[in-house]
Amino acid sequence: MRPIYCPLCEQDQTRRVEQKTRHGLTVTTVLCHGCGLVYHNPVIEDQDRLALGLSPRQLHTNEPINPRHQRRVQRRTAYQLDFLKPWVRPGQQGLEVGAGLGVLSSTLQQYGVQMLGVEPDPQQAEYARQQYDLSIITGRFEEVELSGHKFDLILGSHVIEHFPAPLNFLIRARSLARPEARLFLETPNLLVPKVGPRRVFSIPHNFYFTPQTLTWLLLKAGWQVEKTRIFRRDSFMVMARAAQPQTPALDPRHAALVWQAIYRHRCLYYLKFLFVLRKIPAWQRGWMYHFQEY
Ligand SMILES: [Zn+2]
Repeated sequence: MRPIYCPLCEQDQTRRVEQKTRHGLTVTTVLCHGCGLVYHNPVIEDQDRLALGLSPRQLHTNEPINPRHQRRVQRRTAYQLDFLKPWVRPGQQGLEVGAGLGVLSSTLQQYGVQMLGVEPDPQQAEYARQQYDLSIITGRFEEVELSGHKFDLILGSHVIEHFPAPLNFLIRARSLARPEARLFLETPNLLVPKVGPRRVFSIPHNFYFTPQTLTWLLLKAGWQVEKTRIFRRDSFMVMARAAQPQTPALDPRHAALVWQAIYRHRCLYYLKFLFVLRKIPAWQRGWMYHFQEY
């Protein structure tokens, strides 16, 4: 574990959101006063997770690769494809960071995109190769050799929250981007979490974004957000185009808004029976995954 500065503000002006011990690891979650970014400080690195003797998969879902899990990934992929389609062209070079089981990459390959995947979990990487005949490099995105590659489409579905240094992830993605490239990200929305208050802050996730904080971080790394789709609950998606890095105009009022959202969730999650509702497919389709776009 390593103490860090806020990657947006580059300072350490924070208030504590939560501190708890899980699997023998004490995790402190903080909110940055300057921008509203929420993260673990000290940040959790791969070696800390490995020291627990649990694989990333075990820490995250502890779910075997089975038909039920696959159906869930396919459902998510269908939502993503609906958002992504306007930017997908045959003949593009695509990179998926954290390719997982390879469902999204294989779908894009069917649309004629030449996909390359990077996946740190060997079991999932092997599955994606066997099942979909995908090119997958096993390893951490920060470390894999990709020199000589340039991409039109870079995708990260529920990965940015895992990195100990998400700004570096975005900067590296930018360095691999062709001039007209697009970056697609999906990540949980801290303003409207799907899971209960006790599970919002976890060992696998280091960073907890809102659409605003992610937009600022993207701008800093040289990505201009083009479109955002925010679901009523759970997550949000962004599409960003390669641009020049800029210093974002941070608004400290955002921190108050984030603090309120965390507090509201703690109070209302059980009162609103969200723990029941979020399991009902009809409610998910009819309410949870309705979205707003910007
Ligand atoms: Zn900050």
